[in-house]
Amino acid sequence: GPAVAAVAYHDGAFVPLREAQVPVSTQALQYGTGVFEGIRAYVQRSTGEPAVFRAREHYERFLSGARTLHIDIGLDVKELVELTTELLRRSGLSEDTYIRPLAYKRSLMPGTPPGVQLRGVTDALSVIAFAMGSYTDRSGIRCAISSWRRPGADVLPVRAKATGGYLNSALAVDEARAGGYDDAILLNAAGNVAEASTSNVFAVVRDRLVTPPVTAGLLEGITRDTVIRLAEDFGVRCEFADLDRHDLSTADEVFLTGTGSEVVPVTEVAGRAVGAGVPGPLTTRLLDAYQKLVRGDDPRHADWLLPAG
Ligand code: PMP
Repeated sequence: GPAVAAVAYHDGAFVPLREAQVPVSTQALQYGTGVFEGIRAYVQRSTGEPAVFRAREHYERFLSGARTLHIDIGLDVKELVELTTELLRRSGLSEDTYIRPLAYKRSLMPGTPPGVQLRGVTDALSVIAFAMGSYTDRSGIRCAISSWRRPGADVLPVRAKATGGYLNSALAVDEARAGGYDDAILLNAAGNVAEASTSNVFAVVRDRLVTPPVTAGLLEGITRDTVIRLAEDFGVRCEFADLDRHDLSTADEVFLTGTGSEVVPVTEVAGRAVGAGVPGPLTTRLLDAYQKLVRGDDPRHADWLLPAG
Protein backbone atom coordinates (compact mmCIF):
# COMPACT_ATOMS: atom_id res chain seq x y z
CA GLY A 1 0.00 0.00 0.00
CA PRO A 2 0.93 3.68 0.05
CA ALA A 3 3.47 4.90 2.58
CA VAL A 4 2.25 5.78 6.05
CA ALA A 5 1.94 9.54 6.50
CA ALA A 6 3.58 10.87 9.67
CA VAL A 7 0.64 12.42 11.51
CA ALA A 8 -0.06 13.90 14.92
CA TYR A 9 -2.91 14.65 17.24
CA HIS A 10 -1.72 17.92 18.73
CA ASP A 11 -3.61 20.39 20.95
CA GLY A 12 -6.94 18.89 19.95
CA ALA A 13 -6.47 18.65 16.18
CA PHE A 14 -5.10 16.13 13.67
CA VAL A 15 -2.18 17.68 11.77
CA PRO A 16 0.83 16.57 9.70
CA LEU A 17 3.66 15.68 12.06
CA ARG A 18 5.83 18.61 10.92
CA GLU A 19 3.13 21.03 12.12
CA ALA A 20 3.07 19.62 15.67
CA GLN A 21 5.38 22.11 17.38
CA VAL A 22 5.89 23.31 20.97
CA PRO A 23 7.28 26.66 22.16
CA VAL A 24 10.71 26.68 23.78
CA SER A 25 9.05 27.99 26.95
CA THR A 26 7.30 24.63 27.45
CA GLN A 27 7.92 23.54 31.04
CA ALA A 28 8.28 19.86 30.06
CA LEU A 29 11.04 20.71 27.59
CA GLN A 30 13.03 22.43 30.31
CA TYR A 31 12.31 20.20 33.33
CA GLY A 32 11.31 16.82 31.88
CA THR A 33 7.80 17.05 33.31
CA GLY A 34 5.92 14.71 31.03
CA VAL A 35 4.87 11.10 30.62
CA PHE A 36 4.85 9.15 27.41
CA GLU A 37 4.10 5.77 25.88
CA GLY A 38 5.49 3.69 23.06
CA ILE A 39 2.86 1.59 21.32
CA ARG A 40 3.08 -0.52 18.18
CA ALA A 41 0.51 -1.33 15.52
CA TYR A 42 1.39 -4.42 13.48
CA VAL A 43 0.10 -5.32 10.04
CA GLN A 44 -1.94 -8.48 10.58
CA ARG A 45 -1.19 -11.51 8.47
CA SER A 46 -4.86 -12.23 7.78
CA THR A 47 -6.13 -8.72 6.93
CA GLY A 48 -3.04 -6.84 5.72
CA GLU A 49 -4.06 -3.93 7.98
CA PRO A 50 -2.50 -2.81 11.24
CA ALA A 51 -3.91 -3.66 14.66
CA VAL A 52 -2.80 -1.88 17.83
CA PHE A 53 -1.11 -4.18 20.34
CA ARG A 54 -2.38 -3.93 23.94
CA ALA A 55 -3.55 -0.33 23.52
CA ARG A 56 -5.70 -0.45 26.67
CA GLU A 57 -2.79 -1.51 28.91
CA HIS A 58 -0.51 1.18 27.45
CA TYR A 59 -3.09 3.89 28.11
CA GLU A 60 -3.81 2.62 31.62
CA ARG A 61 -0.10 3.00 32.41
CA PHE A 62 -0.07 6.39 30.67
CA LEU A 63 -2.95 7.72 32.77
CA SER A 64 -1.54 6.41 36.05
CA GLY A 65 1.79 8.08 35.25
CA ALA A 66 -0.03 11.27 34.33
CA ARG A 67 -1.81 11.19 37.69
CA THR A 68 1.55 10.91 39.48
CA LEU A 69 2.73 14.06 37.67
CA HIS A 70 -0.58 15.91 38.28
CA ILE A 71 -1.28 15.96 34.55
CA ASP A 72 -4.96 15.87 33.64
CA ILE A 73 -5.54 15.45 29.92
CA GLY A 74 -9.30 15.08 30.28
CA LEU A 75 -9.55 11.84 28.30
CA ASP A 76 -10.12 8.30 29.57
CA VAL A 77 -8.59 5.06 28.27
CA LYS A 78 -11.44 4.40 25.84
CA GLU A 79 -11.18 7.90 24.37
CA LEU A 80 -7.39 7.62 24.02
CA VAL A 81 -7.75 4.26 22.26
CA GLU A 82 -10.32 5.74 19.86
CA LEU A 83 -8.08 8.74 19.22
CA THR A 84 -5.26 6.32 18.36
CA THR A 85 -7.25 4.26 15.85
CA GLU A 86 -8.45 7.53 14.27
CA LEU A 87 -4.84 8.70 14.01
CA LEU A 88 -3.90 5.41 12.33
CA ARG A 89 -6.75 5.72 9.84
CA ARG A 90 -5.49 9.20 8.97
CA SER A 91 -1.96 7.84 8.54
CA GLY A 92 -3.04 5.51 5.73
CA LEU A 93 -3.09 2.12 7.48
CA SER A 94 -0.62 0.28 5.33
CA GLU A 95 2.50 -0.42 7.39
CA ASP A 96 3.69 -1.29 10.86
CA THR A 97 3.36 1.92 12.86
CA TYR A 98 4.86 3.31 16.03
CA ILE A 99 2.58 5.45 18.20
CA ARG A 100 4.01 7.87 20.75
CA PRO A 101 1.55 9.61 23.11
CA LEU A 102 3.01 12.39 25.27
CA ALA A 103 1.23 14.21 28.11
CA TYR A 104 3.19 17.11 29.47
CA LYS A 105 3.36 20.35 31.42
CA ARG A 106 3.05 23.33 29.16
CA SER A 107 3.07 26.75 30.81
CA LEU A 108 6.31 28.47 31.69
CA MET A 109 4.88 31.93 31.78
CA PRO A 110 6.99 34.83 30.53
CA GLY A 111 7.44 37.33 33.33
CA THR A 112 6.68 34.89 36.15
CA PRO A 113 9.20 32.89 38.19
CA PRO A 114 10.13 29.64 36.36
CA GLY A 115 8.83 27.35 39.10
CA VAL A 116 9.39 23.61 38.99
CA GLN A 117 6.02 22.84 40.54
CA LEU A 118 3.54 20.42 38.98
CA ARG A 119 0.19 21.68 40.25
CA GLY A 120 -0.96 24.89 38.67
CA VAL A 121 0.94 24.28 35.44
CA THR A 122 -1.24 23.71 32.37
CA ASP A 123 -1.33 20.30 30.70
CA ALA A 124 -1.10 19.24 27.07
CA LEU A 125 -1.44 16.06 25.02
CA SER A 126 0.15 15.08 21.73
CA VAL A 127 0.12 11.70 20.01
CA ILE A 128 2.35 11.10 17.02
CA ALA A 129 2.41 8.13 14.67
CA PHE A 130 4.93 7.14 12.03
CA ALA A 131 5.88 4.02 10.09
CA MET A 132 8.30 1.75 11.92
CA GLY A 133 8.85 -1.90 11.18
CA SER A 134 10.09 -4.63 13.47
CA TYR A 135 13.84 -4.35 14.04
CA THR A 136 14.40 -7.31 16.36
CA ASP A 137 17.94 -8.65 16.17
CA ARG A 138 17.42 -12.42 16.31
CA SER A 139 21.16 -13.04 16.50
CA GLY A 140 21.35 -11.21 19.82
CA ILE A 141 22.95 -8.10 21.25
CA ARG A 142 25.81 -7.35 23.62
CA CYS A 143 25.04 -5.49 26.85
CA ALA A 144 27.27 -3.53 29.19
CA ILE A 145 26.49 -3.27 32.88
CA SER A 146 26.20 0.46 33.29
CA SER A 147 28.14 2.49 35.81
CA TRP A 148 24.98 4.60 35.98
CA ARG A 149 22.55 3.17 38.55
CA ARG A 150 18.81 3.14 38.02
CA PRO A 151 17.28 5.62 40.47
CA GLY A 152 15.09 4.13 43.17
CA ALA A 153 11.35 4.68 43.40
CA ASP A 154 12.09 7.18 46.18
CA VAL A 155 14.20 9.26 43.76
CA LEU A 156 11.98 9.28 40.65
CA PRO A 157 8.63 7.65 39.88
CA VAL A 158 10.30 4.84 37.89
CA ARG A 159 6.98 3.01 37.50
CA ALA A 160 5.74 5.97 35.46
CA LYS A 161 7.14 6.40 31.97
CA ALA A 162 8.27 9.94 32.80
CA THR A 163 10.28 11.88 30.22
CA GLY A 164 12.83 13.24 32.71
CA GLY A 165 13.81 9.73 33.80
CA TYR A 166 15.15 9.00 30.33
CA LEU A 167 18.24 11.12 30.93
CA ASN A 168 19.40 8.17 33.01
CA SER A 169 18.73 5.78 30.08
CA ALA A 170 20.45 8.10 27.60
CA LEU A 171 23.59 8.36 29.75
CA ALA A 172 23.70 4.58 30.14
CA VAL A 173 23.26 3.93 26.39
CA ASP A 174 25.86 6.53 25.52
CA GLU A 175 28.38 4.95 27.89
CA ALA A 176 27.58 1.43 26.61
CA ARG A 177 27.95 2.43 22.94
CA ALA A 178 31.24 4.22 23.66
CA GLY A 179 32.44 0.90 25.09
CA GLY A 180 31.38 -0.97 21.94
CA TYR A 181 28.19 -2.47 23.37
CA ASP A 182 24.67 -2.32 21.96
CA ASP A 183 22.74 -1.54 25.14
CA ALA A 184 23.10 -1.21 28.90
CA ILE A 185 21.73 -3.16 31.84
CA LEU A 186 21.29 -0.90 34.88
CA LEU A 187 21.58 -2.03 38.47
CA ASN A 188 19.66 -0.46 41.34
CA ALA A 189 21.27 1.02 44.46
CA ALA A 190 21.40 -2.47 46.04
CA GLY A 191 23.41 -3.81 43.08
CA ASN A 192 20.62 -5.95 41.65
CA VAL A 193 19.36 -5.74 38.07
CA ALA A 194 16.65 -3.14 37.61
CA GLU A 195 16.17 -3.06 33.83
CA ALA A 196 17.89 -2.19 30.57
CA SER A 197 17.85 1.32 29.08
CA THR A 198 14.41 0.94 27.48
CA SER A 199 13.46 -2.66 28.19
CA ASN A 200 13.03 -5.24 30.93
CA VAL A 201 15.49 -8.04 31.66
CA PHE A 202 14.84 -11.78 31.90
CA ALA A 203 17.32 -14.58 32.64
CA VAL A 204 17.24 -18.35 32.62
CA VAL A 205 19.18 -19.30 35.75
CA ARG A 206 19.51 -23.01 36.64
CA ASP A 207 16.38 -23.92 34.67
CA ARG A 208 14.29 -21.11 36.18
CA LEU A 209 12.91 -18.24 34.13
CA VAL A 210 13.46 -15.16 36.29
CA THR A 211 12.74 -11.45 35.99
CA PRO A 212 13.31 -8.79 38.66
CA PRO A 213 10.29 -7.87 40.80
CA VAL A 214 8.76 -4.40 40.62
CA THR A 215 10.45 -3.65 43.96
CA ALA A 216 13.80 -3.72 42.10
CA GLY A 217 12.70 -0.36 40.62
CA LEU A 218 11.53 -0.78 37.04
CA LEU A 219 8.86 0.02 34.55
CA GLU A 220 6.34 -2.82 34.51
CA GLY A 221 6.66 -3.51 30.81
CA ILE A 222 3.69 -4.61 28.80
CA THR A 223 6.02 -6.83 26.77
CA ARG A 224 7.32 -8.24 30.09
CA ASP A 225 3.76 -9.18 30.98
CA THR A 226 3.13 -10.57 27.48
CA VAL A 227 6.23 -12.77 27.63
CA ILE A 228 5.27 -14.04 31.10
CA ARG A 229 1.87 -15.06 29.66
CA LEU A 230 3.48 -16.71 26.60
CA ALA A 231 5.82 -18.67 28.88
CA GLU A 232 2.75 -19.81 30.85
CA ASP A 233 1.25 -21.04 27.58
CA PHE A 234 4.36 -23.28 27.28
CA GLY A 235 3.94 -24.46 30.89
CA VAL A 236 6.88 -22.33 32.12
CA ARG A 237 6.16 -20.25 35.21
CA CYS A 238 8.21 -17.06 35.47
CA GLU A 239 9.59 -16.21 38.90
CA PHE A 240 9.99 -12.67 40.21
CA ALA A 241 13.38 -12.61 41.94
CA ASP A 242 16.35 -10.29 42.23
CA LEU A 243 19.17 -10.92 39.77
CA ASP A 244 22.68 -9.90 40.76
CA ARG A 245 25.89 -9.85 38.72
CA HIS A 246 26.62 -13.47 39.62
CA ASP A 247 23.24 -14.51 38.23
CA LEU A 248 23.97 -12.64 35.00
CA SER A 249 27.42 -14.17 34.60
CA THR A 250 26.16 -17.72 35.26
CA ALA A 251 22.81 -17.47 33.40
CA ASP A 252 22.16 -19.87 30.54
CA GLU A 253 20.04 -17.29 28.74
CA VAL A 254 19.42 -13.56 29.05
CA PHE A 255 16.94 -11.56 26.99
CA LEU A 256 15.31 -8.14 26.98
CA THR A 257 11.68 -7.22 26.34
CA GLY A 258 10.13 -3.95 25.24
CA THR A 259 7.64 -2.54 22.78
CA GLY A 260 10.46 -1.22 20.60
CA SER A 261 12.97 -4.04 21.00
CA GLU A 262 10.28 -6.77 21.26
CA VAL A 263 12.09 -9.92 22.54
CA VAL A 264 15.83 -9.63 21.96
CA PRO A 265 18.44 -12.23 22.95
CA VAL A 266 21.48 -11.01 24.91
CA THR A 267 24.52 -13.07 23.99
CA GLU A 268 27.12 -11.18 26.03
CA VAL A 269 26.98 -9.23 29.29
CA ALA A 270 29.92 -7.05 30.31
CA GLY A 271 32.51 -9.00 28.35
CA ARG A 272 31.24 -12.48 29.25
CA ALA A 273 29.34 -14.80 26.92
CA VAL A 274 25.86 -15.71 28.10
CA GLY A 275 25.59 -19.52 28.05
CA ALA A 276 27.06 -20.71 24.75
CA GLY A 277 27.18 -17.14 23.40
CA VAL A 278 24.23 -17.69 21.07
CA PRO A 279 20.48 -17.12 21.63
CA GLY A 280 19.13 -19.77 24.00
CA PRO A 281 16.24 -22.16 23.29
CA LEU A 282 13.62 -20.58 25.58
CA THR A 283 14.55 -17.10 24.32
CA THR A 284 14.15 -18.17 20.70
CA ARG A 285 10.88 -19.92 21.45
CA LEU A 286 9.47 -16.83 23.17
CA LEU A 287 10.76 -14.54 20.42
CA ASP A 288 9.00 -16.66 17.77
CA ALA A 289 5.80 -16.86 19.81
CA TYR A 290 5.82 -13.08 20.29
CA GLN A 291 6.27 -12.45 16.56
CA LYS A 292 3.38 -14.81 15.78
CA LEU A 293 1.19 -13.22 18.42
CA VAL A 294 1.63 -9.62 17.28
CA ARG A 295 0.79 -10.61 13.67
CA GLY A 296 -2.52 -12.11 14.81
CA ASP A 297 -1.49 -15.76 14.61
CA ASP A 298 -2.17 -16.73 18.24
CA PRO A 299 -5.92 -17.20 18.80
CA ARG A 300 -5.40 -17.40 22.58
CA HIS A 301 -4.54 -13.70 22.70
CA ALA A 302 -6.60 -12.21 19.88
CA ASP A 303 -8.14 -9.76 22.39
CA TRP A 304 -4.76 -7.99 22.69
CA LEU A 305 -5.02 -6.75 19.08
CA LEU A 306 -7.34 -3.92 18.11
CA PRO A 307 -7.89 -3.49 14.34
CA ALA A 308 -7.47 0.17 13.43
CA GLY A 309 -9.42 0.12 10.15
N1 PMP B 1 11.73 -0.21 30.93
C1 PMP B 1 11.93 1.00 30.38
C2 PMP B 1 12.78 1.98 31.09
C3 PMP B 1 11.33 1.32 29.15
O1 PMP B 1 11.53 2.53 28.60
C4 PMP B 1 10.54 0.36 28.49
C5 PMP B 1 9.90 0.69 27.18
N2 PMP B 1 8.61 1.24 27.35
C6 PMP B 1 10.37 -0.89 29.11
C7 PMP B 1 10.99 -1.14 30.32
C8 PMP B 1 9.53 -1.95 28.47
O2 PMP B 1 8.16 -1.60 28.54
P1 PMP B 1 7.13 -2.07 27.44
O3 PMP B 1 7.30 -3.54 27.29
O4 PMP B 1 5.80 -1.71 28.01
O5 PMP B 1 7.45 -1.34 26.18
